[in-house]
Amino acid sequence: EKLGVALVGLGYYSTNILAPGLQQTEHCELRGIVTGSPEKIPVWQEKYGIPDASVYNYETMHEIANNDDIDVVYIVLPNNMHAEYSIIGANAGKHVWCEKPMAMNVEECRAMIDATEKNGVQLTIGYRMQHEPNTQTIIKYGEEETYGRITAIRSGGGFRANHEPDNWRAVKEMGGGALYDMGVYPINAARYSSGMEPVAVRAKQWSVREDIYSDCDEYTDFDLEFPNGLTMEGKCSFGNGMNYLDIDCSDGWYRLRPFLSYSGVRGATSDGTILAPDPGHQQARQMDNDALAIKNGTNPTAPGEEGLRDVRIVQAIMDSSRLDGQWMQL
Ligand code: NAD
Repeated sequence: EKLGVALVGLGYYSTNILAPGLQQTEHCELRGIVTGSPEKIPVWQEKYGIPDASVYNYETMHEIANNDDIDVVYIVLPNNMHAEYSIIGANAGKHVWCEKPMAMNVEECRAMIDATEKNGVQLTIGYRMQHEPNTQTIIKYGEEETYGRITAIRSGGGFRANHEPDNWRAVKEMGGGALYDMGVYPINAARYSSGMEPVAVRAKQWSVREDIYSDCDEYTDFDLEFPNGLTMEGKCSFGNGMNYLDIDCSDGWYRLRPFLSYSGVRGATSDGTILAPDPGHQQARQMDNDALAIKNGTNPTAPGEEGLRDVRIVQAIMDSSRLDGQWMQL
């Protein structure tokens, strides 16, 4: 018996990636939509056979509580809307999957965790890389110290973006900027590849195209310090392309390049091992794993606490940049 998923927000990611992915899943399927754009409704209903009873807008979304076809709401909205709509979904008694970054700040993340705990539903963050096979291999290298102790991590995620200045990704109050959008990938990667939590961070944020990224970062550089002396050099950008996770160890090295793409994630190691790209649909695998965790009542791969830890680091990065790159304790 498949779980029914309602996508909340029908923008780029829902339309082009998640809805097609939900045609390939074994443990869940697309059964509902929540949208503020009436013109999208007939298109989605026809394409995916969604009945009138499972179509909602943002004002009626709470009524999903009465819909037994829907088990999960997947929040795929601008970042500043994640907390509000996750909480509406939780209070409707539905499991919540929420896209990265989890929310704007730690307080919002806590409110989301509280709402899901109070309602006895799961809260899972859309950290698709943690479900990707080559990523899981290098996580195991870290746990088993296959190449020795990790001594340094370098990771960057970015692309040449061309947002309109009023696009939410360029608007500070909506969670715009490269750090919220792309920075969470290297931050999350530093944590999953080392299995450790950083203790301090310093950072610098700036924009070159001030006409577009006037009040949020086009670029962020940051350094994380871990308890055993491990350091991580992170970068993210809306200005130039980058997509690497490089890990140095006491007895060798390994890397994933690219490390955050939807497909083609590829690895290499100091002893010549090649981690060939996995051909599967990354998001279908993520959603199946997350559906299985609900069905089996087990902990999801990336629970809300995972998102909260990264958002705490995001906030410290912004604080450090405002203080001219001062080290911030975490
Ligand atoms: P998008 O701009 O294409 O879509 C956003 C949707 O929200 C649109 O359908 C828009 O109509 C709707 N919306 C509702 N209220 C809005 C408002 N007040 N202002 C603007 N839009 C509003 O964005 P997207 O690329 O689909 O991203 C959505 C979320 O998914 C973000 O949190 C993003 O970080 C995340 N995402 C994750 C991945 C991933 O690989 N995990 C990839 C892309 C996006």
